[in-house]
Amino acid sequence: MLHWIRSGLPGPTVCFSFGVHGDERAPIDAGYALAASLSADALSAGSLLLLLGNPEAVAAGRRYLEVDLNRCFTAAVLGRSPRSREEQRAQALAAALREVEILLDFHCTVEPGERFVMHHPDDARHRQISALLDASVVLSDPGLCFGGCSLDELLSTSGRVGICYETGWIGDPANTPERIVVQMRNVLRGLGMLPGTAHRLDQRRLVLTQTLRCPSGGFAWASGVGHNLQSLPAGTLLGEGGDGALHLQAPATLIFPKKRPHVLQPGQPLVYLAAGA
Ligand SMILES: [Zn+2]
Repeated sequence: MLHWIRSGLPGPTVCFSFGVHGDERAPIDAGYALAASLSADALSAGSLLLLLGNPEAVAAGRRYLEVDLNRCFTAAVLGRSPRSREEQRAQALAAALREVEILLDFHCTVEPGERFVMHHPDDARHRQISALLDASVVLSDPGLCFGGCSLDELLSTSGRVGICYETGWIGDPANTPERIVVQMRNVLRGLGMLPGTAHRLDQRRLVLTQTLRCPSGGFAWASGVGHNLQSLPAGTLLGEGGDGALHLQAPATLIFPKKRPHVLQPGQPLVYLAAGA
C-alpha cells in the first residue's frame, strides 16, 4: 500500500509506515484501518502518506524474506545495484519518501516489554512529536549507535523528522490495531492535521551512549539481568563470556539485550546502554 491522503491545504507532509517487519500485524492492521476511515476532506491541513513497508514479507507473514529491511537504509545499500528483495524495496521506499518531512514508523517489539519511542537526534521537533505517542520512555541515539540504517534514520539523518514507535510486544493481545489508530489520530491532531486537542505525555528520556558487543566464545547472561529498559547500577555483573565476566562500568539502562542463541554472535551487538537525558 502506498496511499496518499491530501487535504489540498498547506501543512506538513507526513508519512505513517508499518509492516517494515512483515510479521508485526497490529501496526499493519492499524494502517489499513486508518486508510479506510480517514478521507481527504477530514484532513484539515497537509498531506498524509500511509505506507506498507515490506508487502512481500507481510504476505508471507515473515519478518523479512532475505535480509532485515530496517538495516537497508544506508547510503551504500541505497546507492548500489540491489542484492536482495529488501534492498530493492529500500530503494523504492526512499524514492517514495522524497517529499515527506515527518515520518513515524510503527513496529512491535520481539521480546515482551513496555512500548517506547526511539529517534536519532535529541532535538525539540523530535521531542514534540514523540510526546504525542503513548509511551513512557523515549530513547534518542545522537551518536547513531544503532548504525544509521533504519527507515526513521533515513529521514532524521537528512534534516527531516524520523521516529520509530515500538507499539508494544508482538505477542501482547492488548496491543491492538484500535489502540494504535488512536495514537495515529493523536499525532495528526498534534500536527494540526485533524481538528481537536491532542494529548501530550510526560516521558522519561534516555540517550544511547554505548554498544556492548558479544565476546568470542558466546555469552551467558547473569540471573535476573538482561531485560529491555532495565536500569542497573555501576558494577552490576551482566554475565560471563569467553573473555571473562562483564560488569557495567557506569549506571545504565539496558536497551535491546540479545538473548536468543542465534543472535548472540561474536562481534555483533550484545546490548546497547543508555543514560538519563
Ligand atoms: Zn519491527
